[in-house]
Amino acid sequence: MINKCRFCDNTLEHIFVDLGISPLANAYVAAKQTNQMEPFYPLRVYVCAQCYLVQLPVFESSEKIFCDYAYFSSFSDSWLQHAKAYTDLIIDRFGFDSESHVIEIASNDGYLLQYFKAKGIPVLGIEPAQNVARAAREAGIQTLEKFFGCQTARELAKEGKYADLLIGNNVLAHVPDIKDFVKGMKIILKPHGVITVEFPHLLRLIEENQFDTIYHEHFSYFSFAVANKVFEHHGLRIFDVDELPTHGGSLRIYARHVEDATSGISEKVAALLEREAAEGLENLELYLTFNQKVRSAKRSILEFMVKTKNEGKTIVGYGAPAKGNTLLNYCGIRTDFIEYTVDRSPYKQGHFLPGTHIPILHPDKIRETQPDYVIILPWNLKDEIMNQMAHIREWNGKFVTLIPEVRIYS
Ligand SMILES: [Zn+2]
Repeated sequence: MINKCRFCDNTLEHIFVDLGISPLANAYVAAKQTNQMEPFYPLRVYVCAQCYLVQLPVFESSEKIFCDYAYFSSFSDSWLQHAKAYTDLIIDRFGFDSESHVIEIASNDGYLLQYFKAKGIPVLGIEPAQNVARAAREAGIQTLEKFFGCQTARELAKEGKYADLLIGNNVLAHVPDIKDFVKGMKIILKPHGVITVEFPHLLRLIEENQFDTIYHEHFSYFSFAVANKVFEHHGLRIFDVDELPTHGGSLRIYARHVEDATSGISEKVAALLEREAAEGLENLELYLTFNQKVRSAKRSILEFMVKTKNEGKTIVGYGAPAKGNTLLNYCGIRTDFIEYTVDRSPYKQGHFLPGTHIPILHPDKIRETQPDYVIILPWNLKDEIMNQMAHIREWNGKFVTLIPEVRIYS
C-alpha cells in the first residue's frame, strides 16, 4: 500500500516514529468484554519529505473511532478554567455580542460554548460523538451531531448559519481529510469573521519527547509552518498566534479570509516561523532522530518499573487518558507493573484500559490501598492532580511522571 501525504499528495517514505501495534487509545474495555479479542493497529507515524506534515495513515473509519468517544471535557477543572479565560479574552479583543454567532467544531459536551451562552451570545456546537453531543444538548447548548467538512459547511450555509467566531480546538489532528475541513471553515466564516484553532505544537512534542500524545485518533501533528501553509492554501490567513501551556504546549492560531484586511499581521507570526526553522523543523534530519529518542525513553521507563518492583514497592496510576494507553502499550506495561489506575470520570470507572487491561477504579481506591508510587498518566494535568491527591504524602507515597523522562516528586 502506498501512503500519500494528506496535504500535498507526496508519497510518504520516512518514518517519524514507530510505536509498534496498539488498540485504539479510546477503546476502553467493559468488564464483560475482557475475554474477547481486541483489534490492534500499527502505530507508525510518517513525515512528508516535501511539506513536513507529520501524519498517521488512516486505517479505520472515523465513524468507528469516534462513535462513542469517552472524553468529557467538563471533568477537568483546569480545562474549564482554560475555556473561561479564552471566552473573556476573545470577547474583549473582538467585541462579540448578542448579534454575533459563535460556532464551535468538535464542541464536546459544551464545556466552552456554555461561557459564551452565559454572556448572551448565540452559539452552535458541532459534535459527532453521540454521547457527548447528547450531554451538551441536555445542558442547553444547541448541538448538531455531525462530522465537520465541506458538506456540513454547505448545509449550514444553506440555512444562513455563518460564524463571526469559528472555533476548532483540538480537532485538527483528528481530521482525516484536513483539506476538506479547512475548506469547510472558509465556507461558513462571515466576511469579517475570525477563526481560532488550537492544536498541540509539534515543536514541543519533539523537544519534550511527548510520544504518548501520538495515537490512532490523531492523524496529523502540526508545526506552525505547516498549519500556516494549510490555511493559506485554502484562502485563510493566520494573523496572530499564541503559545499556550495546554496539552504539553499548544498553539492558538487566529485566521481571517485572505481578502479581509481588518487585522494586521502580528509580528509573533514571523517570529515563530523563524524559531521553528532555527530548531530544524524545515529539515528532514530532525524528524528522523525522533524514533531513537523514543526508544531510549522506553528503556528508562522500564528500568524504573523493574527496579521499583524488585524493591517490592507498589505502583498504581492516576488517570486513564488516551495518551496513557499509547505509553503503556508501547512499553508493554500491564498489571504486572501498575496494579490499577483511577479516574474521576464515572464513564471510565469499572472499565479496563485498552490492550493492557489495567482496571480503572474510583480515586478513593488510592487512599484505601496506600501505594508507594502514583504514576500521573495525564502529565499535562500534573499540578492539578498533585493538589487533589496531596494526601498520598501521609503514607510517604510519591508522584511520578514519565514524560519527557522519569521524574519522581517527593
Ligand atoms: Zn506533504
